[in-house]
Amino acid sequence: MTEQIRHWINGAESEGKPARAGAVYDPATGQQTADVDFAGAADVDRAVAAATTAATAWRRTSLSRRVKVLFALRELVDRNRDALAAAITAQHGKTLDDAHGEVQRGLEVVEFACGIPSVLQGEFSADVSTAVDAYSLRQPLGVVAGITPFNFPIMVPMWMHPIAIAAGNAFILKPSEKDPTASMLVAKLWQRAGLPDGVFNVVHGDKETVDAILDHPGIAAVSFVGSTPIARYVYERGTAAGKRVQALGGAKNHMVVLPDADLGVAADAAVSAGYGSAGERCMAVSVVVAVGDIADGLVEAIAERTRELRTAPGNADGAQMGPLITREHRDKVSGYVAAGESEGATLVVDGRKVSVDGDGFFLGPVLFDHVTPRMSIYTDEVFGPLLSVVRAASYDDALSLVNANRYGNGVAIFTNDGLAARRFTDEVEVGMVGINVPIPTPMAYFSFGGWKQSLFGDTHVHGKHAVHFYTRTKAVTARWPEPDAERAMHLGFPTAT
Ligand code: NAD
Repeated sequence: MTEQIRHWINGAESEGKPARAGAVYDPATGQQTADVDFAGAADVDRAVAAATTAATAWRRTSLSRRVKVLFALRELVDRNRDALAAAITAQHGKTLDDAHGEVQRGLEVVEFACGIPSVLQGEFSADVSTAVDAYSLRQPLGVVAGITPFNFPIMVPMWMHPIAIAAGNAFILKPSEKDPTASMLVAKLWQRAGLPDGVFNVVHGDKETVDAILDHPGIAAVSFVGSTPIARYVYERGTAAGKRVQALGGAKNHMVVLPDADLGVAADAAVSAGYGSAGERCMAVSVVVAVGDIADGLVEAIAERTRELRTAPGNADGAQMGPLITREHRDKVSGYVAAGESEGATLVVDGRKVSVDGDGFFLGPVLFDHVTPRMSIYTDEVFGPLLSVVRAASYDDALSLVNANRYGNGVAIFTNDGLAARRFTDEVEVGMVGINVPIPTPMAYFSFGGWKQSLFGDTHVHGKHAVHFYTRTKAVTARWPEPDAERAMHLGFPTAT
């Protein structure tokens, strides 16, 4: 008997036979380990009803009580790191070490949300006119939803719900149907932390569930993270339904290596950022741009390190790279290796030769040299352990290449020249920039988001952008006249006196 993963609505797991369900796999063995209920419009409606009732009381709960719940959640996530990381590895496949890193980065957003009182503060001006004061308030939106991808089942939802809830909203999470268990563990931690039932809900499912969320008039805002075509769809359908939407999409992240860089340091960075989590990170480096005459040496240094990587089940000792998420995705990435070869790139390391016992969805690291911008391994987001090296004659050529790309999530430059790095930071059209840092994922108190087709909408996630996204401001002008003040009625537009 496989496990049945249910929705979490109003503080309890749903019951009964679902109309639709999906299969969940352990990617390291290729075996199905669970079934997950898929929500239809009626299930989403139940979740919205519970969240609406809960939101009414939650927004009136004092800031100090809300923050106590956040601090309790912080402690519980901290104490349950092992269980959360194990759940990630069992369904996503990434190494346990990497899963622990993900939990840590999610926890940092919970910690940011513990400080919500200071970022929710409004503004006040006394005497803007005679006996008139003005102030602004930040109020929650009500019920908000998050729709998240498979690749960070703890961290990406945590970019959203701790801040949304701390700000006084109720939250409905639709996690990836491929690794849904992590969200159920988090729902139970919220409950143990003292969050009232109905403030945090989880509905599982696919497009039908997402459409029900996007169309539901009781949901005020949607945060989405996933691939670019779905991000665009969610943004268009959600905003057409009158919602506030932020939709983060896919990526093609470049790492530019200037001729003065330390090639050993750059090669280490390319390997860790290219193959960590089997390349299934939206901030993974997928293109190394070798500037000037360093390419031969750099490719050799990357290849040497790549050949030593250990591809194995995520919970095996010494594993550095786990499997891909599904058999179809593994086959798709393998297909890109064949395409790269036939389009004329030089295959330096062929991950298809890696063999791991069992029927897991494994592919070893792949390294291509002499990749050009027209090849599909360059134009497409491969989202696997495939690193392409493009050769550029100069800094200007490298910059033009990055800026011509339709994605603008992350980019890195490796150099010892501070002026070149400063110029690059200014000129590059990408939302997150690393200087000698290959994966420049901002800390929780900054905001995370890309440019161009990596983001639809204008607010990034977590940090202050999230506080703005999950609240709306109200400006109040108040007059308390002296009891004996002269009364004068006039119909002119109000101006300060
Ligand atoms: P995905 O777009 O397939 O799925 C994301 C979410 O959308 C899931 O919850 C899924 O159930 C739902 N969905 C899938 N197909 C849908 C459809 N046709 N209509 C409506 N909803 C649908 O993405 P994924 O494969 O789970 O995740 C990988 C992608 O996410 C990559 O492209 C990666 O770059 C991106 N990503 C981006 C960021 C970022 O911050 N920009 C972060 C993590 C992942």
